[in-house]
Formats: sequence, C-alpha cells, structure tokens
Amino acid sequence: MRHLLSVVVSVYNEEEALAQFYQVTEGILNTISWDYELVFVNDGSRDQSLSILNRLADSNPKVKVVSFSRNFGHEAAMIAGIDYSQGDGIICMDADLQHPPACIPEIIRRFEAGYEVINMVRTKNESAGWFKNMASSAFYKLINALSDVKFESNASDFFAISRNVAAVLKENYREKVRFLRGYVQNVGFPKTTIEYEARARVAGESKYSIRKLFKFSINTILCFSDLPLKLGIYSGIIVGFLGLLVMLETIYEWAVKGTPNGYATIVVLLCFMFAMLFVIVGII
Ligand code: UDP
Ligand code: MG
Repeated sequence: MRHLLSVVVSVYNEEEALAQFYQVTEGILNTISWDYELVFVNDGSRDQSLSILNRLADSNPKVKVVSFSRNFGHEAAMIAGIDYSQGDGIICMDADLQHPPACIPEIIRRFEAGYEVINMVRTKNESAGWFKNMASSAFYKLINALSDVKFESNASDFFAISRNVAAVLKENYREKVRFLRGYVQNVGFPKTTIEYEARARVAGESKYSIRKLFKFSINTILCFSDLPLKLGIYSGIIVGFLGLLVMLETIYEWAVKGTPNGYATIVVLLCFMFAMLFVIVGII
C-alpha cells in the first residue's frame, strides 16, 4: 500500500495567498511517490478564505477543511490539523509560501530513511524585519538560558513528524498553552534537520502582530522554565543575605562606638521579614 502524507496548513485571512499556495503545493504533491491529503485548518478567518477552501475541497477530494468557529491562534490550528490527519507522515506549514513546498520531496526521503522528527531550519528570513529577527533570536537565547529543555534557535513552525510522534502529541501534550515546535523537538525519536530559506510572503501581510508574539513568548517561558516559580525563593535568599550584611555592620558599630544604630536595626528586621516572606511564597 502507498504511504500517505498529510500536509497541515493553518489559514487565517489568507484569501490573497491561497490560490497560489494550492497551485504550487498540489503541483509538488502530485510528483511524490506517496499519496497525500491536504488538510487546511481555517482559524476563524474573516475574509473569503473559507469559501475558497471549500471550493478547493469540492474540486479535489484530497483536500480536507477543518474550520474553527473563531480565531484560536496558529498553534491551536496546527494541533487540530495534526489531530485530524491520517497520514504516516505529517508536515505542518504556513499558507503564505514562506515555507517552500519544494522541500517536500526531501522530507519524504528523510521519512523513508527512518527519521521521525524533521525540523526545518531557516537559514534566512526575507520578510521579517530586523526587529522580528532580533526579537526572535533574543527569545531563543532567553528560553535556552531559562529552561532545561533545549530549543533549536532557528526552528520554525515548519516541521514534519511521523505518525508515532503525532500519536504522542495527541495523547500526552494536551496543555492549553502550547509551544508546538518546542514539543516536537523534545519528544525523542530519530530526528533530523533540513535547511530552507524563508522567502517573503506571496501575498497579504503577516498575521502575527508584535503583541501576539510577545504574549506567545511569555507563555512559552512560563511553560518551559520554572525560574518564575523560584523567583520568590531566590529573592528571599538575596534579601536575607543583605540583612545579614547590615546586621554584621550594626554589631560592629555597636561594638566599636558603643551606640546601637536604630536605623540599621529596622533595616535588618525588614530584610529578615521579607526574606522569610519571599521564601515561603516561593515554596507555596
Ligand atoms: N495563522 C493562523 N492563525 C493566526 C495567525 C496566523 O492560523 O492567528 C496562520 C497564517 O495564516 C499563516 C501562518 O499561521 O499560514 C503563519 O502566519 P504569518 O505568515 O502571518 O506569520 P509570520 O510568517 O509573519 O511569522
Ligand atoms: Mg508568514
């Protein structure tokens, strides 16, 4: 029996890009040795995306459409697409052709070579401005410093996984706040990377605002790092140490000058009280 490849594409207000995306992608999917299904997840688009997708599904039975009642975000859309997919291999990609479908044959070769997680690593990102590029690399530095789990710094939400990995994601990674590309890198299984150049978007504009990206980064750090939780204990230790210094200095003054320093006594007390408080909050 022929293997089945599922291509999961999340779509949010992509009416200008869809026709071209479909044309290019379908062209390539028809040349590979695997059978395919093209799973579009409409993430509550408010433009004509859904009707365009439905028309594609009518004309080609290999096109499937999953549609959300409102915008739930790119991550939720990819998860839904993975849940829905039947393939032996699943590729997640964007609808704006920034993730070149030309990589698909190479992905198939890697699947056939036995790899189960294929990370697509961007070598160049033409459309993201310097700010997004800088923010993105700062984000990966920060999360790698804060978290025990290590992230590929140029990972994108362009990746491919086997049916086994998809099963693990379906069963065991059901948190509400997710960072899919992080999970994919940390589920185990034979893993490989393919490099690609992210070209400029074919049409329309980016659906990820800086605000959305910021929220997403904060969530990810809270999910993958326990530093925020331990902040209380660390503050407690630092404040307690400060208190100790001031106390030593007070004892010294008292011993040398013979007069206790009332101001210092209050600072010492405050430091110890706060230290205790922070440590207890940290434990809680
Ligand atoms: N997208 C989505 N829901 C959203 C935002 C984006 O499904 O809330 C989709 C979008 O249609 C595209 C992909 O996610 O297929 C990546 O978005 P975009 O190209 O806007 O992000 P960028 O490439 O600029 O980071
Ligand atoms: Mg894009």
